[in-house]
Amino acid sequence: MSFSDLHLSSSLLLALQKEGYTLPYPIQSEAIPPILNGKDVLGIAKTGSGKTAAYVLPILAKLEKRIAFTNREVPVLVLVPTRELAMQVAMVVGQFAKYLKTRVKTLAVYGGVSINPQMQAMNQVQILVATPGRLLDLVDNNAVKLSKVDLLVLDEADKMLNLGFKKEMDHIIRLLPTNRQNLLFSATLSEDLASLSAILLDNAVTIKIDAAENEPKLIDQTAFLVAADRKGPLLRYLITSQNIHQALVFTSSTYKADNVANKLRKNDIEAAAIHGKKSQSARTKTLKQFKSNKLRVLVTTDLLARGIDIEALPYVINYELPRSPKDFIHRVGRTGRAGEKGMAISLVTEDQLHHFKVIQKKMGQWTELIDSSDFDLKGY
Ligand code: AMP
Repeated sequence: MSFSDLHLSSSLLLALQKEGYTLPYPIQSEAIPPILNGKDVLGIAKTGSGKTAAYVLPILAKLEKRIAFTNREVPVLVLVPTRELAMQVAMVVGQFAKYLKTRVKTLAVYGGVSINPQMQAMNQVQILVATPGRLLDLVDNNAVKLSKVDLLVLDEADKMLNLGFKKEMDHIIRLLPTNRQNLLFSATLSEDLASLSAILLDNAVTIKIDAAENEPKLIDQTAFLVAADRKGPLLRYLITSQNIHQALVFTSSTYKADNVANKLRKNDIEAAAIHGKKSQSARTKTLKQFKSNKLRVLVTTDLLARGIDIEALPYVINYELPRSPKDFIHRVGRTGRAGEKGMAISLVTEDQLHHFKVIQKKMGQWTELIDSSDFDLKGY
């Protein structure tokens, strides 16, 4: 199937061509037709599967045909769990919208930054991408009305539930008109998600993209058995000896993330930490530096495991294993994306061997465990 089989406008087809989208990914060929037909859709697909374009393209196709909009009454609302994802979705919209003949204005709103500029920018917005808390603040300030939303997207709905946004989401849903189209995307299908989709979706088309169709085959995995006090030196040894020029390193706490980044810097490896305790402007700046290859190592927590799209990230390193296998899969999913090859490295201590086996079993992929006790890490 090609994009031209999907009944998109000539402007959108041109946009796809210019942006290097040659063939639709499975989620796109399956989701675009029902979305264009006004159906509710439940998409079980991860970041990296192309899910953003799967909903952004048909939304733009719909908006392209509309002429009249009322001020401060947005027709399309995209709810996302994190600031980073909000910015990223708005960027994807902008990437395609610039080729359209009609102007489609999109705005990303999220907490952690001043609300005033967001209130002022709300004029004539057609696609509002928002984190739940900030959206409710904007509603309370009369900056936006949700009574005209006729298309709602919940992106990474599972993560929104995990982050405790259930109450805010319920509140937002109550503010929406009943007659609307709903699109729900999630990386996993949990009980909570099933009950949310039962409330939200009407006669929905369910699309499930198996992970196997997209990612794991492209990701090489290696794991090292390591004593806890040799983890830092092993990390620095791997970065240096393997000449790793860009790596995303996961730790289990903000404290540890700062600590690992500091030690890397002390050893002349450019690194920075980014996590929920950093200010929004610091997070944005650091991420930008990392994306543009000005920063060699970005150390983070699971907050960023989903949603962040860094093109062709070559290395993901699990400095510490996450508690849940799901988080492991999301972390590893940051590499080997969009057809590029990637490498995931895990540092495993003896007491985590059983846990690591459980993770591997859940992934359906066995990774060789290399004993690093003989490595000479002096000087690292
Ligand atoms: P997403 O899952 O939406 O975060 O997309 C993952 C990555 O795949 C992004 O870098 C997109 O730009 C890219 N991508 C999505 N769909 C296509 C496509 N049909 N052709 C080429 N790249 C794509």
